[in-house]
Amino acid sequence: MPKIAITELSPKDLRDILSDWGEPQYRARQILDWVYHKPISDFSAMSNLPPNLRERLDSEFSFQSVLPVTEVTSRDGTTTKVLFRLSDGRSIESVLMMYDKRRTVCVSSQVGCAFGCPLCATGASGFERNLTPAEITDQVLFFSRRLISQQSAVSSPGRDEGLLTIDYRPSNVVFMGMGEPLVNFEAVWRAVENLISPDLLGLGARHLTISTIGIPSAIKKLSQKKLQVGLAVSLHAPNNELRDLLAPPNRMYPLEVLIPACRSYVEATRRRITFEYTLIRSVNDSVPLAIELADLLRGLNCHVDLIPVNPAACPEFKPPHRARVQAFHETLTRHHVPNTIRLRRGLDIHAGCGQLRAQVRKTD
Ligand code: SF4
Repeated sequence: MPKIAITELSPKDLRDILSDWGEPQYRARQILDWVYHKPISDFSAMSNLPPNLRERLDSEFSFQSVLPVTEVTSRDGTTTKVLFRLSDGRSIESVLMMYDKRRTVCVSSQVGCAFGCPLCATGASGFERNLTPAEITDQVLFFSRRLISQQSAVSSPGRDEGLLTIDYRPSNVVFMGMGEPLVNFEAVWRAVENLISPDLLGLGARHLTISTIGIPSAIKKLSQKKLQVGLAVSLHAPNNELRDLLAPPNRMYPLEVLIPACRSYVEATRRRITFEYTLIRSVNDSVPLAIELADLLRGLNCHVDLIPVNPAACPEFKPPHRARVQAFHETLTRHHVPNTIRLRRGLDIHAGCGQLRAQVRKTD
């Protein structure tokens, strides 16, 4: 039977276990500091713990629930995608994006996905299972440890180590990798708590974004949470006819249910919502559709990200001509819908979710 991952434990769980072992309570703080803030790869490196405690931790827990097996970096060096193997042999992928002064980790929340959206490589592979809170958390910690050790390597001798860990952990986390995070709500939320707890990784809640295809009941649940985590909804179309094709879950959760759920979310949280709109040539990139989108979102505190489709991810769809993107953007702006055209990064490494995994499977 596989060992439990240490990141599956809350600080209280760990304190209780240590108390059962007859260890003082401050050991929990030391262990969590190693796990969440130091660039180590196993319990044996926890040098301020007695050797017998390190051995016991190693015999009872696994230090990492995700193990890197393949990695690719884009030619411009800004985007790195890692394929991780899980304890049951399944695989997932995560991406580190280093631009706009941010160090953003994009994490997966499921192995595969049941929804089968045509714009997404993950959907083509089908659903295998939900990830655990530890498997989600550990994707972020993998990149965090790497960033800290890279910074340590270039820092001048004698610089305070505590400062290094604060400066060089990931700045943002987005739940936009493989899987639909709101279908795996409880595990995703426990991972969120691990990432933002001041006793654990300590990221700001506002620096986390959950991206969903749009599940109204889960959006409602999210709006009841007190934490200011961001929400992004993949819209891709302003009417049900088109959205049924581009985002098939729309057949279960049509726009007349989804958009009111988004309005309630904004009212309850007082947070702006982001809508992602992938632009596809001659499918959803016309000016009339931009006007329809503006009508749909009228009065809603939101921002629309316009994303030209990634041709490597969806060979059946073509990216729009630049003039059409510009016209779409200007139409939304004229209708008072804040929007931005987003660059597609990491095209040369297949940075869309599920693509590296699909590629590795093909060559296995
Ligand atoms: Fe699943 Fe999201 Fe991909 Fe759709 S876009 S198949 S919901 S992971």
